[in-house]
Amino acid sequence: MSVGIELLGQTAHIAPLLERARSGRLHHCYLFEGPPSVGKHTAAELLARTAACTAERGPFPCGQCLTCKQMLKGIHPDLIQVVPDPKRKSGTIGVDQVRELIRQVRLRPYNASWRTVIVDPVDALMPQAANALLKTLEEPPPDTGFVLVTSRVSSLLATVLSRSQRVRFTAVSEKELVPWLSAKELPDAQRIARLSLGCPGAAIALGEGGLVAMDEVRSELIQVLNGDIPAVIDASEALSRTKDAKAGLLLWLAVLETLVRDTVMWGCDRQDGLIHSDQPKLIAAWAGVLWPGGAGRLQVLIDQTRRRMSVNVNNRLLVETLLSATLRELGPASRARLQ
Ligand SMILES: [Zn+2]
Repeated sequence: MSVGIELLGQTAHIAPLLERARSGRLHHCYLFEGPPSVGKHTAAELLARTAACTAERGPFPCGQCLTCKQMLKGIHPDLIQVVPDPKRKSGTIGVDQVRELIRQVRLRPYNASWRTVIVDPVDALMPQAANALLKTLEEPPPDTGFVLVTSRVSSLLATVLSRSQRVRFTAVSEKELVPWLSAKELPDAQRIARLSLGCPGAAIALGEGGLVAMDEVRSELIQVLNGDIPAVIDASEALSRTKDAKAGLLLWLAVLETLVRDTVMWGCDRQDGLIHSDQPKLIAAWAGVLWPGGAGRLQVLIDQTRRRMSVNVNNRLLVETLLSATLRELGPASRARLQ
């Protein structure tokens, strides 16, 4: 691919859109939906540059013309980004931001043949803000297109969905992801690719320290599970006293989930697909007792814990319940240690 393009995979969805952008036939509103960090925002910016690039049209924007350069730097007035206001603690996009956007798009584009507005994530729009935006989506200003980005399409208003052309992004295959990560000289490319569930942005974050942090959490978790119920209670209390207890718990949940997932892979004779490929003995010991019934029960409990956390119930009690249930399910296998 060309200069400044970091989009991986998604060719089937994106190539026809880029073709439309080159020939000036873009729809006025697209909804890019798919898992977090899979490349939706990168693709939205690529689309904006393709539609606005002033160079001889190749398959991708040139990356060299003034428009491309300014858009890559985020300083071109015809690429408008609407994101949650960092001043709002709720992480939402307010009606004042949408009113300002509407004021801007009523003016003619600055100099590009096509102006793009990216709203990411569109599910962060407050209801009043979403309603204000709807009127603009109904009667879009000339030469202006919207790309709405979300990983939570089910939370969007039907009226927003009905005005958009939906583009579904899918996980990138390991076959594409591993060489891409290796080329960036990130360590443990295979494990990172698997752990990211095919989302390149998440894979990069794992490569830049996330995997090390996750492995530390894994050691903590295995150590806690090497103990008994009182040890679990102590660990839960300690975790609940930390500064960001909720984030800590979510990380524990995520790591436990990957371990349970690996026991299922092991049970299905898919040892080549393990996330914790560096710990085959531990996974074998866990699979010996968890596969198939216990793995299913633990997965239900993990999902339940995550849902309850979103409504802010007592987090410490949730950790205790989850870890105690894990201990019970593991039985003697809870004594398995990391290699
Ligand atoms: Zn260009």
